[in-house]
Amino acid sequence: MQVYADNAATTKISSRALQAMMPCFEKFYGNPSSLHSVGQEAKEVLDEARAKVAACLGCEAREIFFTSGGSEADNQAIRSAAFYGAKKGKKHIISTAFEHHAVLHTLKALEKEGFEITLLDVKEGHNVTAQQVKDAIREDTCLVTCMYANNEIGSVLPISDIGAVCKEAGVPFHTDAVQAVGHLHINVKEQNIDMLSLSGHKFHGPKGVGALYVRRGLPLVNIIEGGAQERGKRGGTENLPGIVGMAVAMEDACANMDQNNAKVTAMRDKLIAGLEKIPHCALNGDRENRLPGNVSFCFEGIEGESLLLYLDAMGISASSGSACTSGSLDPSHVLLAIGRVHDVAHGSLRLSLSHENTDEEMDHILTAVPQVVELLRNMSPVWRDLQTGKREYIL
Ligand SMILES: *Cc1c(COP(=O)(O)O)cnc(C)c1O
Repeated sequence: MQVYADNAATTKISSRALQAMMPCFEKFYGNPSSLHSVGQEAKEVLDEARAKVAACLGCEAREIFFTSGGSEADNQAIRSAAFYGAKKGKKHIISTAFEHHAVLHTLKALEKEGFEITLLDVKEGHNVTAQQVKDAIREDTCLVTCMYANNEIGSVLPISDIGAVCKEAGVPFHTDAVQAVGHLHINVKEQNIDMLSLSGHKFHGPKGVGALYVRRGLPLVNIIEGGAQERGKRGGTENLPGIVGMAVAMEDACANMDQNNAKVTAMRDKLIAGLEKIPHCALNGDRENRLPGNVSFCFEGIEGESLLLYLDAMGISASSGSACTSGSLDPSHVLLAIGRVHDVAHGSLRLSLSHENTDEEMDHILTAVPQVVELLRNMSPVWRDLQTGKREYIL
């Protein structure tokens, strides 16, 4: 049995999205900036896609800027707020310790350019509170950027409350909603979100395409200089097949959200309940406010990498945390941020589900994971030390 349980890293494109893309290669191949009718037909298709994306977020079409993905959208949102903040002498930015690297590394770069960054602590409940944001806001704060939902541990942040706090203080609020769009109900106006990043491939759309929502009136700087595309804010001929595929996938994800989430949440809860029976393990992330498809655990006395390889051999594609940190020996900054010590953080497993998974697949995971954990523990010198009392259990 093959089980794909790494949907937080990327999803399989839906057949509807794929089908919607094909005419963009064969029929609507014109450049939307061309004045002839072939170009103008492509422009119409582009406008239609923009309207679909806007409808899912509750904003206007002209507030949507297409990008090459979530990372570019994050970079542009943060760079824009920083540039216009600095013009007013405001060089303080608030974020959280468990953001995606697209946010954290942009903030690191800004720090080198003289900005002061406050990263909110996420140990308590593996989440942040709006009160923490409120307490951190200063006279010179030019941006609050907090992810909508964490990609590794699934915590869903209190975005509406944070939005209200930011609105009250008059500070622009950006959210990296890459894990939330298509999975959670979002309305940028009701939630007082000023900027929002999303990515097509996290909700069964194509890779290499995303969008940035920017509230009308908020100024942007370019990350990609070039032509007048995207109201002059993102140069480059539009990736029409990608944009159309993303728009269709987003429309479907939003239309089927409640139905999909009911199924995915039930599978998630079954996995959590089953895996919690393994001794000396801990669930990562906020138990109540959690992405429908996220299961994240730390198992003491094992290496997450070995666990993944054994699971792969049993047909299960999982992750130790983030696809972006795998390949490096450092434990995940997210797991360290929630307070897991190095040894424990190394024994992590993330299973991220989609509506395409089945109950039989969950049964296979629930058989395989306890077996592999036991096998690895039996080979582990650390586990032996824990069992003989030479070392103390943490979990
Ligand atoms: C995947 C992801 C990104 C990056 O999106 P890309 O489209 O792959 O650049 C950013 N933030 C979060 C939370 C993600 O999960």
